[in-house]
Formats: sequence, C-alpha cells, structure tokens
Amino acid sequence: MALFGKKDKYVRINPNRSLKREVERDVPEVPDELFAKCPACKHMIYQKDLGVAKICPSCSYNFRISAQERLALTVDEASFEELYTGIETKDPLNFPKYNEKLSQARAATGLDEAVLTGKASIRGQKVALAIMDSNFIMASMGTVVGEKLTRLFELAIDEKLPVVIFTASGGARMQEGIMSLMQMAKVSAAVKRHSNAGLFYLTILTDPTTGGVTASFAMEGDIILAEPQALVGFAGRRVIETTVRENLPDDFQKAEFLLEHGFVDAIVKRTDMPDVIANLVAFHGGAK
Ligand SMILES: [Zn+2]
Repeated sequence: MALFGKKDKYVRINPNRSLKREVERDVPEVPDELFAKCPACKHMIYQKDLGVAKICPSCSYNFRISAQERLALTVDEASFEELYTGIETKDPLNFPKYNEKLSQARAATGLDEAVLTGKASIRGQKVALAIMDSNFIMASMGTVVGEKLTRLFELAIDEKLPVVIFTASGGARMQEGIMSLMQMAKVSAAVKRHSNAGLFYLTILTDPTTGGVTASFAMEGDIILAEPQALVGFAGRRVIETTVRENLPDDFQKAEFLLEHGFVDAIVKRTDMPDVIANLVAFHGGAK
C-alpha cells in the first residue's frame, strides 16, 4: 500500500491545470522536423546534416524520399515531361476504405498513383523514366502502376529510348487482389519486348523494394543498381525465418548482402546516381 501512498508527496503547483499540461511544460519543445532518426544506424541526425540528398552522415543510409525529390536530384533541370497522368484507379473488389485511402495518398503526395512516369534527360542522356514513391500506399503495385509502366516501355520501344526505373514497393496492392498480381506478368512482357528491340533497361532499387515488384521488373534490368542499405526482398524476414526455421544474418535482404551474392551489380550513392546512370546509358548506346 505504501506504493500507492506515495502520490500524496506530489503537490500540484496549480490545481486548475491538468497534470498533462504540467508535464508538457517541463519538456523542452523540439520541433519534429528538426531531427530525424536514421532507420539503419538509429542515430538522431540533425535534419540540416542530411542535406538535400538526405544521406545519413553516420552510416550513409539513403533516407526514403518522395518521387518529386528524386526527380529534382536526378534529371536535368526542366527536362521532365510527365506522361500517363489521370488514369483512373478502379476498386474492383469494393475493398473497404480503398477509395478513402487513395484520396488520402493523393492529397499527401501530390501524385495520382504510386509511380511517376515520363521522359527526361539525365546529364544529357534521353531516357524514359519511372520513379516509384513509397509514400503512396507503400508504392504498392495495382493496375494503374502496371499500366503506366507498360505504356512507358511501349513508348520507349517506339521512340528507341532506354528505360530507367527507380523501384520502391511494399509489393502487390492487396486491395486489387488478383488484378494487381497480373501486373507482374504484364510489365515483364513489356520489359521483354523492349529487350528484344535491343534497348537498354536500368533499375535502381531503393529502400524498400519488396514483394511482387522484386519478383518482376525490379530484378529484370540489364543492369541493377541499389542505394546503400536499401531493403530488397520478396517475402518478409519473419515469414522466411518461420518457414525455414533458421535465424537469418543481420544484413539479410540489404543491398550490400545482395551485391555480395550477385543479385545487384553495384551500390551507388544517391549523389553519384545521375553521373552513373548517364554513363551506363551512354555506354549502352543511349537513345537510338
Ligand atoms: Zn545512419
């Protein structure tokens, strides 16, 4: 009982103020946007130290960024021509709250779907470009994502352009059921036609690239690059550990692990990415 008796020791300074307010008053106010916790090394990083490229100064992890931020860091100024906007996302299963979720994602990201598609030049090299944005329903791949990517490959075949895709995804969009899984085959068929036309396809795996996207076009690039410490995998770590009943290494499904095992060709820092992309595109003949 002594434990409960202790509360008499505390005297409210002003009984009209709630206890919560008292507590809040004693905590120095730190604006949320001042610091960011690095998901990789767990250090608290002063936002300014992340710079525009948002790279952790302590462990080089490349923070997740929006499609617009990625665009600004990658393409030549004013060179981006956006294509395939306004394709309506359907709700074939009448999935509870799907339309609501789509509206929220649109308002939060300023995108109409989880992938931004268009034509651009990178250090003077013309490319067909797609950038997936994990802020939009975890960049899950539904029918519109599949359709936009397929159209991009078809345009690239017609105009003899290389394709560059920055992948990010939580996987297939479960709200669209089997329709979302079909996009894996649909985009892969377009990749194959593009390849048959002798054109170059480059993928850049960013954190996180998982599920159906990894099991299809993300790993079908002629060259596959990744950002440092990006999570790349098909099934989640826990699912695999429970299935195979083994503990997996700490760096399992990290870009560095994939590089070591031959699934990735190179790990490239975000700030070096435009030069590396342009060199690879030029080396493979560029736009034809
Ligand atoms: Zn870090």
